Amino acid sequence: MFPAVGFKGKRVALFGLARSGMSCAEALRLGGAEVLAWDDSDPAVEKARTEGLSVTNLHTVDFRTLAALVLSPGVPLTHPEPHWTVVKAKAAGVEILGDTEVFARSIQDTGARLTAITGTNGKSTTTALIGHVLKHAGLDVDVGGNIGNAVFNLRPPQRGRHYVLELSSFQIDLMRGLSPDVGVLINITPDHLDRHGTMENYAAVKARMFARQHDSQTALVGVDDEWSVAIADKIHGGANLRRVSVLRRLDDGISAPEGILRETVEGKVTAEIDLRAMPALRGRHNWQNACMAYGAATAHGVALDAIINAMERFPGLAHRMQEVGRVGYIAFINDSKATNADAAEKALASFERIYWIAGGIQKAGGISSLQPYFSRITKAYLIGVAAQDFAQVLEGKVPYEIAETLPRAVTLAARDAGADKDPRAVVLLSPACASFDHYKNFEVRGDAFVDAVSRLPGAIMNSSEI
Ligand code: ADP
Repeated sequence: MFPAVGFKGKRVALFGLARSGMSCAEALRLGGAEVLAWDDSDPAVEKARTEGLSVTNLHTVDFRTLAALVLSPGVPLTHPEPHWTVVKAKAAGVEILGDTEVFARSIQDTGARLTAITGTNGKSTTTALIGHVLKHAGLDVDVGGNIGNAVFNLRPPQRGRHYVLELSSFQIDLMRGLSPDVGVLINITPDHLDRHGTMENYAAVKARMFARQHDSQTALVGVDDEWSVAIADKIHGGANLRRVSVLRRLDDGISAPEGILRETVEGKVTAEIDLRAMPALRGRHNWQNACMAYGAATAHGVALDAIINAMERFPGLAHRMQEVGRVGYIAFINDSKATNADAAEKALASFERIYWIAGGIQKAGGISSLQPYFSRITKAYLIGVAAQDFAQVLEGKVPYEIAETLPRAVTLAARDAGADKDPRAVVLLSPACASFDHYKNFEVRGDAFVDAVSRLPGAIMNSSEI
């Protein structure tokens, strides 16, 4: 915790008393602001009160007396309709900003460096990977933002300290002054349109990552979707732009279409990393994340050898295609985060001989979109409410067994994979379903998988560093 800069002696309304709101309120108070904190939820207000925060019903406040409204990124700024505090702030001409903007202003001119990551998919993985690579290179690093660590809970700014922040589009929408030393846009695909209205609006928010950058700063932009290409094409004169592709080789940029990362400058290869054997960077989507991390690390002056060394040791993020242990040569992969078919597709595309554990509460469309990957599945072990429906889709195409529960599925899959002589065989939990029939959330489901694997005879578990 450290003081927020820029609001000394001013009145600031803060709406949204979840963890990041609470710590921003405290930081503003430490910085000398008068903070009027509020939430629409009675339990949240009560909790804030019991934690010692003074709360003020913002309904009763004249917004013309305020210097700013700090809004939680979970609260609608525009869609489906502006929140009542937004309406009041706009009517009074009061600036609206998020805790990440207050943070960005507070670290300005301190000599701390900011790397900011956004994108529709891969944000957390890329953020964790960049943090990991910079740390391994001996830099002083703090990782936070949307990944789950409120920005004002990070260590105070000082010269040479690196902040690596995951930013959602909601957070960027509340940041007028964002100007990261390294800005990363991984990709843009339709998502959150309920909150951004149109794809144009969503892309315009993501583009703000680069809008205020200057020429000593770096912009890394994935150019494998048309929305990001358009954003890259508009960056001239400002940041040092490096394009990234995992679909084709770039003559100028960072690319890894076959899993071999190459940086190319005017047609000349200047660096190469073979990503194919990196245990936590399997699959094309992770090659995209790795390209971003390579670009960010080199922008901060990290040497190629140090990057390779760190990437080889990246433990991966829990529950996202994470290798959690082995029995003999059979790897057990926890991809519990795959709560829909799209996410499971990434995992199925990353392995060739799969003993697949799937099921739970299915989403619209089920698993029929996964048909192109069925040839990779040696056998499926179906669990939860969706088991019978999934069985119908697999019938005649993929051998399956109704395992009912996750622990039983692990036992059955381990038995069959153990008898497989092919060293490519993996046991993969990538359920393509929500977990709520048996587990509170995907994390608890993933932990149950790890627990079941650890009980298998001969299991050697990986220790995770993150
Ligand atoms: P986010 O933080 O953006 O939700 P994560 O890093 O948590 O992303 O990854 C969530 C899931 O998204 C992963 O399990 C994987 O299926 C998929 N994914 C990860 N990186 C990418 C990427 N670069 N492109 C597309 N999908 C990805």
